[in-house]
Formats: sequence, structure tokens, C-alpha cells
Amino acid sequence: MQYISTRGGIEPVSFTEAVMMGLATDGGLLLPRTIPRIGSETFAEWKDLTYQDLAFEIMSRFIDDIPDADLHKLISRSYASFDREEITPLVHQGSLHIMELFHGPTLAFKDVALQFLGNVIEYLLEKKDSVMNILGATSGDTGSAAIYGVRGKERINIFILHPHQRVSEVQEKQMTTVTDTNVFNIAIRGTFDDGQAIVKAIFNDLNFKEEQHLGAINSINWARVLAQVVYYVYACLHISSHENDKATDFAVPTGNFGDIFAGYIAKRMLPEGSIRKLLLATNSNDILTRMVNDGDYSLSQVEATSSPSMDIQSASNFERYLYYLLDEEPDRVSQAMTQLTETGKIDLIDFKDQIQRDFTAEKATEEDVSATITDFYREYRYIIDPHTAVGVHCALKHQTKGIPVCCLATAHPAKFGDTVEKAIGKPLELPVSISEIMEKETRCELMDADKNLIQDFIKKHSKHG
Ligand SMILES: *Cc1c(COP(=O)(O)O)cnc(C)c1O
Repeated sequence: MQYISTRGGIEPVSFTEAVMMGLATDGGLLLPRTIPRIGSETFAEWKDLTYQDLAFEIMSRFIDDIPDADLHKLISRSYASFDREEITPLVHQGSLHIMELFHGPTLAFKDVALQFLGNVIEYLLEKKDSVMNILGATSGDTGSAAIYGVRGKERINIFILHPHQRVSEVQEKQMTTVTDTNVFNIAIRGTFDDGQAIVKAIFNDLNFKEEQHLGAINSINWARVLAQVVYYVYACLHISSHENDKATDFAVPTGNFGDIFAGYIAKRMLPEGSIRKLLLATNSNDILTRMVNDGDYSLSQVEATSSPSMDIQSASNFERYLYYLLDEEPDRVSQAMTQLTETGKIDLIDFKDQIQRDFTAEKATEEDVSATITDFYREYRYIIDPHTAVGVHCALKHQTKGIPVCCLATAHPAKFGDTVEKAIGKPLELPVSISEIMEKETRCELMDADKNLIQDFIKKHSKHG
């Protein structure tokens, strides 16, 4: 499989080149040249596969430059860190199916992709006899999942900036208790935006970037999308045997459009009538809801909510969907992206019908989120986190009679304990993996939000090939 850029400015690259490139060098995002189609017979044969074997079947259709035996090993290593044999177990509550994506090491769905990406990068570095210094800024969740994705890996050092005392205690502990020698947590005196601006500026220093073998593992990496396609297919297979082969809707709490875009790929891959609609759910940062409901993709201010991993305006994976919406014509994508930079909006009013063929959208206010957590607990004694609640709110509102809905549960409730405890009116039982880290020793560097200082720090501690 070859990969192309949404902006058409690069020669096609292989899967492993796409992984190492991250962002395409023309500023676009990488996509497979075609989306493989799965026939109904093949799909039916997948019913009894384990998660890992299913992952192999799906991924190998997008990857032709990693030998099968190696890909099998990468997959099994990636999911060995999950605490459930099913990897992403389904539970059934009332009229909803809930897929728990939080059984990885940091208790959030980002582990599904970042465990895999960390292993793929390590494998490729070994092949090239090279090293990488990963640099990123986090507001909480991504940082810990990225750190757990590469901790202890010999050819990789990771530097993660987080805003000092502005992440939750659990998030901070999850990052700073990882004391492997290749992990460098930097708390900066400043905000998440300061951290992100520094990271951007350092990546723009091209000499430094090359000299220090800098790499990123952010949400636009194709390998992350691919790893997420797997659980949509897994859910379809399991729900359709539970519900007599009915098409399924998916309710997806959305921030960067990464998770739900994986659902879009799955929808196009699978036999007609496997996935019916993608229910796109946002918190009050609702640019994507407006896009679906009104064809209005216009940026506004980011608001802080109880589902912080979705407090996003410019959805970094949206350009991938735009590529399909604009008939796979890179020139039109480039134009739209230029329009977004210049005017802060893309007008998609003429595409509303087309968008609504695949998506239905709903936003949840803070009151909706807390009421959904309360009601769900009251009714089913099942506790959901605020991100999952955004999706469940949307699912309950747009559920169609006779159509199964699968809600993606993206974080363990204990990760956002304060909001959840308020909503259910009692303290949460902490999972062992969280209560353990509260006592552990931590390692973290506190620094001013100063690009030069941080650059010097990286230089001093970077891995050299
Ligand atoms: C990142 C994240 C999301 C949003 O995922 P996107 O791929 O950015 O849409 C939702 N819930 C949780 C818990 C997350 O960490």
C-alpha cells in the first residue's frame, strides 16, 4: 500500500515512511492511496478471531513493508500491556453497547494506538540502526500515553512538556512516576499553549531537529488511525452476532477527529450495512458538531470543560475527511486549508447532505455531561467518565429504534474522579494502577517556559546514534 498526501505535494511513500514522516512534508496529512474493501465472506470469517489476529488481518491490508511475522510480533507486544484478554471488551447497558477502550496502561483509549506506534517506531529504528528523540507538549492524557508507549525503549528518548500544576494529580503522577532513564518530564511555568508554542518553535529549527533526531508522535500519525480502525471492526463483529447482523451506529466523543476518522475508514472498508452512522459527539467546543449540522467549520475560542481531552477547536485530523469530502482532489484540499488559515473558517454548507449521510452530531453542555453520568449510574450502576458521557448523551438523543448503538468509552472514570464523584455522589474505588502510582517516587524537571532553556536541556539529554 502506498500513501499519499492530502495536498498532493509528495511522491507516494510506503507505510513505514509514512509512520516516520508523521506530517507529510508538504504540510498535508498522509492517507492510503485506496481503502481496501472487505467482502462479506471474509468479514464473516473474522467472527472468531482474537483481537490481535483481527488487528493483523486489518493492518496487513494497509502495510506491505513489514514482514508478516514481524507485524504479528509488534501487535502482540502492543496489546500485552492491556489488562483484559478481549483488549477492548464490550458491555451491554440498557439499549446501549459500550466498548471499553481504557484497559491499557494509562487507562485511556490513546493507549490502543500509542502502544502500537511506540513498538513500530522502535522496530523501524532498529532496522535503520538509528535513534529518535521524541518531543511533545501535553495538557494531560496524550503525554502519559506517549510516555508509556516508549518507556524503556533503547533507541528512543522522550521529552514531554506539561504545564506545572495545571494537569490533574492523576495525570501528573502517571507521567512523572515513570522513572525509566529514557523518559524526561518537563513541567514548565506556563500554560499548555506555552508548551505547545515552544515545541512548535523547536521543530521549526530545522538544523536542531535534524541534529537531534527529533520526532513527534502526535495524533496525525497514520499508524494511530490504523490501530484505532481495529476496534470498530471488532465491535461490529461482536455486536452483529448479538443483534442478528444489524448495521451498527457508533457514538464517538470527539476532539481531534482522530478516533471518529478511524470509524469512517472502517465504515468504508466493511461490507455495506456494517456501520450505519457515526454519531459525532462534542462538548461545548463544538466546531465539529456545527460542521455536521450546519456545514459551518469555523474556529472559535477554546473553552475549558470537564472533558479536557476534547477541549479542541482546530481538529488536526479533519483534513483527512476533507480530502474525501472534496472528491480526493488535493488542490481543493489545499485551497480549503488556506481559506481556514486566512479566514478562520471553511464553508461546507453545500456539503451538508453528503456529510449527513455518514454523520449525525450533538454537543453536550456541562450540565448534560453531569446529568448523563448521574442517570447512567442510577439506572445501571455503571460509571462513565465525562468524555464517555458526551458520547452517551449523543447516543441517547439520536438512537434509532432497532439500530444497535455502540458508545466508545474513552477513559476510565477514575482518571476524572472529581467530576465523576460529584455526579454519582460517592467516592470512586481507584483501580490498583492508579492507587499504586500515588505513592511512587517521581522524576520531573521544573523549568521556565523558555525555548532556549528547553533546547539546551534536550541537547544535554538526547540520545545520539
Ligand atoms: C483524546 C481523547 C478523546 C478525543 O479523541 P480524538 O481522537 O482527539 O477525537 C476522547 N476521550 C479521551 C479520554 C481522550 O483522551
